[in-house]
Amino acid sequence: MRRQSSPKRTKFIFVTGGVVSSLGKGLCAASLGALLENRGLNVGLQKLDPYLNVDPGTMSPTQHGEVFVTDDGCETDLDLGHYERFVSHRMSRHSNYTSGQIYSAVLEKERKGDYLGQTVQVIPHVTNEIKQAILTAAEGTDVLICEIGGTVGDIESLPFLEAVRQLRFELGSDNAIFVHLTLLPYLPTAGEIKTKPTQHSVMKMREIGIQPDILVCRADHPIESDIREKIALFTNVALAHVIPMLDAATIYDVPLSLHESRLDDAVCELLNIWSREPQLHEWRRIVDVIKNPANQVKIGVVGKYVDLHESYKSLSEALVHGGIANNAGVQIVFLDAEQISTRGPSLLAELDGILVPGGFGKRGSAGKIEAIRWAREHEIPFFGICLGMQLAVIEYARNVAGIEDAQSTEFEDNPAHPVIALMDEQEKVTHKGGTMRLGAYGCELIQNTLARRIYGEPHVSERHRHRWEFNNAYREPLREAGLVLSGMSPDAKLVEMIELPASNHPYFIACQFHPEFKSRPTAPHPLFTAFVGAALEHAKLRGS
Ligand code: GLN
Repeated sequence: MRRQSSPKRTKFIFVTGGVVSSLGKGLCAASLGALLENRGLNVGLQKLDPYLNVDPGTMSPTQHGEVFVTDDGCETDLDLGHYERFVSHRMSRHSNYTSGQIYSAVLEKERKGDYLGQTVQVIPHVTNEIKQAILTAAEGTDVLICEIGGTVGDIESLPFLEAVRQLRFELGSDNAIFVHLTLLPYLPTAGEIKTKPTQHSVMKMREIGIQPDILVCRADHPIESDIREKIALFTNVALAHVIPMLDAATIYDVPLSLHESRLDDAVCELLNIWSREPQLHEWRRIVDVIKNPANQVKIGVVGKYVDLHESYKSLSEALVHGGIANNAGVQIVFLDAEQISTRGPSLLAELDGILVPGGFGKRGSAGKIEAIRWAREHEIPFFGICLGMQLAVIEYARNVAGIEDAQSTEFEDNPAHPVIALMDEQEKVTHKGGTMRLGAYGCELIQNTLARRIYGEPHVSERHRHRWEFNNAYREPLREAGLVLSGMSPDAKLVEMIELPASNHPYFIACQFHPEFKSRPTAPHPLFTAFVGAALEHAKLRGS
């Protein structure tokens, strides 16, 4: 057999899904990553998405949920956010490939004549491109967990499945395995769990030449041993490799429950990996705080896509992490900005903290500005992120600095006072997709500010995803009116953070970047820790 040599003998785990979408493949892959990392392995994760968009950057949040941004400035699938929260490996442009990206690369090579007159086909040209993408992501890792988006049986994912089938053949079964997620539905009328969809999903896999090595079975009812035996018999998967994944109270419980079901043991045995038992005390502590917090806070998130919680995935998780750091449960209340405009800011009473997150477009901006004003005037802890910072600048300009018609040029052409505006290079951009300020940029924190105290260091790096900026022409008037510019780009050309002095407000801070992308349950982001801490203080004051 011709064996493809893997980079540094990386071992590969291909994660696929069957029966229905939204099974939690990303969470399963991330949790497995956490377990293997805790066994001392260097784990990489990768997501292959079958859709034709080159990246999810231009997709509406209603279509795709959150766009996750990597340090190297790629707009990627939200599953990469799960990966970064569960393992320490940082994602990059090699961590997420879409069919669109793969086909673009193949077509570019074809135009350049790289295929030397051959007929360019899905097999081998597209599949080779996919295999190369997987091998590149594997470089430097002991184990690469590669998740294939979509559901087995979809037309779109076939080239990806064919590519990983070939890779397993070339690398050998002790270097590459298949973990397949399925659903075991419970039928209340029959009073039992049904295995047929799982059997059919495995048949579908076998049709394309893939025999899963491990089945992870999602269920909301306990899976009795006779059901597991039946699944094993009909799917050709060893009984010990039929692993239950029951609904969990918190996503951070998933690594612990998968470990109890011996998923990491099964993987290590199949891949012939010798490693220590995972050290899980940190995860146990996290889950314990989430389940039994000593305190409670209520945080209002004022946004536009409030019914689509997936669009604020990293944000909600970062708030939970801030809660973990403060031994507090965070109740997140999503508030529709337009409702605040129509029904008034009374919707905001009872909140211990108000957060205005990132966003695009004018709709809802009036309500968000009202919420910011309420937080400022009622001394409620406030945290503005990206658009949230831009709107806080507009609010301060209009209501404190007396610049009544302050506006962002995102919402209005040629306003009298463009306090938020495009910088020169953004002015020149005409087509969408990857044209924003994206990825990691340095930020210098000014001495004697809340920002500097929170971070505890003068230089930080944070991830951006925006076009508009604080307009430098308004630095002086706003400073004179009491606004503190507490974070600057290293060349001091861009304002990255603003805040109110402690003499004016107990906690009011905003940033042009997205700190939520870098928060982890094991290392909560300082801005979220401090915000939840301030909200906790507010709750105590309110209660006393
Ligand atoms: N719409 C704003 C901009 O592009 C803010 C973007 C965001 O909040 N991510 O600058």
